[in-house]
Amino acid sequence: MPLSSPPLLPTDPQHFAGRHVLVTGASRGIGWAVAKAFAAAGASLSLVGRDAASLQQRAAEITGPQNSATLQNSVRAFAADVADEAAIGKAINDAQAAQGPLDILVNNAGFGASKPFAKMDTGHWREMLNVNLDGVFFATRAAIPGLLSRPQARVITIASTAGLTGYGYVAAYCAAKHGAVGLMRALAREYAKRDITFNAVCPGYVDTEMTETSIRTIVEKTGRSREQALAELTAGNPQGRLVKPEEVAATVLWLAMPAAGAVTGQAIAVAGGEVM
Ligand code: NAP
Repeated sequence: MPLSSPPLLPTDPQHFAGRHVLVTGASRGIGWAVAKAFAAAGASLSLVGRDAASLQQRAAEITGPQNSATLQNSVRAFAADVADEAAIGKAINDAQAAQGPLDILVNNAGFGASKPFAKMDTGHWREMLNVNLDGVFFATRAAIPGLLSRPQARVITIASTAGLTGYGYVAAYCAAKHGAVGLMRALAREYAKRDITFNAVCPGYVDTEMTETSIRTIVEKTGRSREQALAELTAGNPQGRLVKPEEVAATVLWLAMPAAGAVTGQAIAVAGGEVM
């Protein structure tokens, strides 16, 4: 009998039952893959992003009729910009008031834009730092009291290979992502004796809207075809392909499992060997 491939992600709807997971940037791309994976594994979810309508739609997809027979979890949406300290603080308080203290925070919201360094204005620098680093700080600090009240708590930040090595033309994004990795490492030490871990997941180019935007920018700025632009982005990945959002989600779920309790302060590349 041929062996079938094992499922990529846990499919046991009891695996994360009773756990409250908040995912920032949950309406599409990596954040949506993470949210779906936790939902399928039984977690209660708080979805955060700037656009309330798309979050509500995603929440409805998880709790829709095709799933309601198997999934008993509750899913709520809280619109907030992670770069707005008051707004993300309120979203995290509201999520905990509605669904209890957080067990797992996934700092995923972020975005990257490129600029040659000499042409980099302060606005671009601030924007990259605000969303990709300040946002992680604001959300993590707001969530810490709740997380510390729970067993086996987790903070998992989606950084990037740009948090582990340098790339040209994205100095501000690289600086922010290195900062996010450093923040996880520092907190891993500060809270090492508590029942909580802090880790970063560092994807290479992933098959999401953000990568589509990078491809469009290359096409516009260089006149290359879409295929050439995609080949340029995947050239740095020895596997020669984009990473799947579900592959990033699988690493996040593993870090959230009790089995990963001794893994803290790590930055795990999910990038086909792009950085080693
Ligand atoms: P994406 O497809 O563009 O999705 C981004 C998500 O974040 C959306 O749900 C978006 O919703 C939300 N978001 C963006 N800015 C936000 C803000 N200021 N406050 C709250 N929510 C915000 O991006 P992705 O590719 O999934 O990337 C997710 C994370 O992975 C980012 O941190 C990114 O830096 C990192 N990453 C991506 C890649 C890649 O190749 N795609 C590689 C390495 C790392 P709204 O627009 O409605 O707010």
